[in-house]
Amino acid sequence: ELTGDKAKAWLLNFEAKIQEHKAYLSDLDQAIGDGDHGSNMARGTEAVKVNLEKIAEPETAEVLKQAAMALISKVGGASGPLYGSAFMQMAKTAKETTDIHELIEAGLEGIKHRGKADVGDKTMVDTWAPVVEALAKDALTNEAITQAVDATKPLKAKKGRASYVGERSIGALDPGAVSSGYLFTALVEEVL
Ligand code: ADP
Ligand code: MG
Ligand code: MG
Repeated sequence: ELTGDKAKAWLLNFEAKIQEHKAYLSDLDQAIGDGDHGSNMARGTEAVKVNLEKIAEPETAEVLKQAAMALISKVGGASGPLYGSAFMQMAKTAKETTDIHELIEAGLEGIKHRGKADVGDKTMVDTWAPVVEALAKDALTNEAITQAVDATKPLKAKKGRASYVGERSIGALDPGAVSSGYLFTALVEEVL
């Protein structure tokens, strides 16, 4: 169950992981995109942290909504509206349920609705979809997350900037899949 306190701890942990791996995320994006994914996410999650630190008594839907608004307004790039849609859908769903599986599934639907990518297109969807399946079986582990992220390597990008390099995207990790991996490692650490 995602309580408000746990949601806040989750997102603060995510922010710390993004700051720690900022250069790595931008390097991954340099290989198949424009090299800004680390700085985009660092700026966005810093804004999430600023918003969350203002909330004294965290309530799940409010925490998720504040995260969504910070990510939409501060990330810039494709990933901002995509993560933003995920958190906005989670915030809406949190008014009905705080079940982790249902919340993350709603987030995935938000990303798919906004970005029109499906599994196998080499995007963050390739992390989110297997994570939703694992959560349904109550089996989300760091190993499952790593496996999903690594599985983006052999794929050819069909959506976003990486699709411009076509065949050259084969063999590289998708940066958004990797940053989403940090989101779910943080979930395992703080919530599950
Ligand atoms: P930009 O590509 O605008 O510079 P970022 O570098 O911050 O934005 O984010 C790139 C990441 O966004 C990709 O690695 C991919 O995971 C994700 N992405 C791009 N387009 C889509 C899409 N249509 N659906 C889902 N994820 C996408
Ligand atoms: Mg980029
Ligand atoms: Mg960019």
